[in-house]
Amino acid sequence: ESIIELKNIRKCYDNVVAVKDFSLDVKKGEFVTFLGPSGCGKTTTLRMIAGFELPTEGQILLNGRDISVMPPNKRPINTVFQRYALFPHLNIFENIAFGLKLKTKEVTYRNKAGETMTRKEKLSGAEIREKVERALEVVDLEGFEKRDVSTLSGGQQQRIAIARAIVNEPEILLLDEPLGALDLKMRKEMQLELKSMHERLGITFIYVTHDQEEALTMSDKVVVMSDGMIQQIGTPEEIYNEPNTVFVADFIGESNIFNGKMSGKKVVLFCGSEFPCLDDFPVGSDVDVVVRPEDIGMAPAGAGQLNAVVRSVIFKGMHYEITLESGESEIVMRSTKLAAIGEVLGLTIEPDGIHVIPSD
Ligand code: ADP
Ligand code: MG
Repeated sequence: ESIIELKNIRKCYDNVVAVKDFSLDVKKGEFVTFLGPSGCGKTTTLRMIAGFELPTEGQILLNGRDISVMPPNKRPINTVFQRYALFPHLNIFENIAFGLKLKTKEVTYRNKAGETMTRKEKLSGAEIREKVERALEVVDLEGFEKRDVSTLSGGQQQRIAIARAIVNEPEILLLDEPLGALDLKMRKEMQLELKSMHERLGITFIYVTHDQEEALTMSDKVVVMSDGMIQQIGTPEEIYNEPNTVFVADFIGESNIFNGKMSGKKVVLFCGSEFPCLDDFPVGSDVDVVVRPEDIGMAPAGAGQLNAVVRSVIFKGMHYEITLESGESEIVMRSTKLAAIGEVLGLTIEPDGIHVIPSD
């Protein structure tokens, strides 16, 4: 069941086209991530979903209803930004309760004539306290109500920002690079926490990051963007194993991208070696062949599909990253075995280690 649908969204600022032909269907409860380099239109798209920006063209539907021009405060959607933007002069309780104090709920009652009526009422102090307490539990900071913002670490402040964003039970939480200001260790920890928070809350998360590893770790569905456009939508496995474009192959993980030519049900690599290819690309057409570093094996010279000279070896902890040269091509592979610079190796590529993309 869809919660948010973006239909052919376009956003222009004067002469800059920030987002173009953006169509996306987000299912209820999904964790969707917009992934792409800086400037590709992630924040702009998120701001249109939140209502801070209006699309130049296209529509945004929420539960099937057009909300393209609905003001932000009417949308059941909250945003967490990179800089947590807590109020420094308020304590934690007041920071989280801030929005709740303005909020009203609908109460039904019977009037003197016995008709059922509704009226808006403010939340009571007890209701607010209970909601704040529950939000603090979700972010694992029970009992922090009386603390001052300045006494919290960056990670804790960001959790408070999340508590504030979920306290009024939005249907959708938008998160714009929320972990960008944290150090690596805290970021990894918060990634897992956010993922488990998402599972516990059952609300829809739309997350923005330029960090491909973060996107792969957290998401049900990843929307890879470049230059204001969607490059590919898929599960983390799909975008890693079956990139649609050279941009996606290059941006997600590490890739070797070789020139190849189709020859029947085979693709012939630059080095002359052939691999089976079931994709239906025209015979003789040029293709790009993606091979992940971990899908290349090491053999003695002459014993692989191609020979290559070792140019550099970098120790990466779990493995060595070895860069080699074969003809005009540079090849990157991973190996637990050391190789000597200048050594000639035979490289092996398994048939299912290659992925073919039509050249444009
Ligand atoms: P991202 O979040 O992926 O880094 P943005 O959505 O912030 O990218 O920006 C997309 C493009 O739109 C960029 O070229 C940016 O300069 C431009 N842009 C964003 N906001 C504005 C604005 N308010 N006025 C003019 N150009 C903008
Ligand atoms: Mg941004």
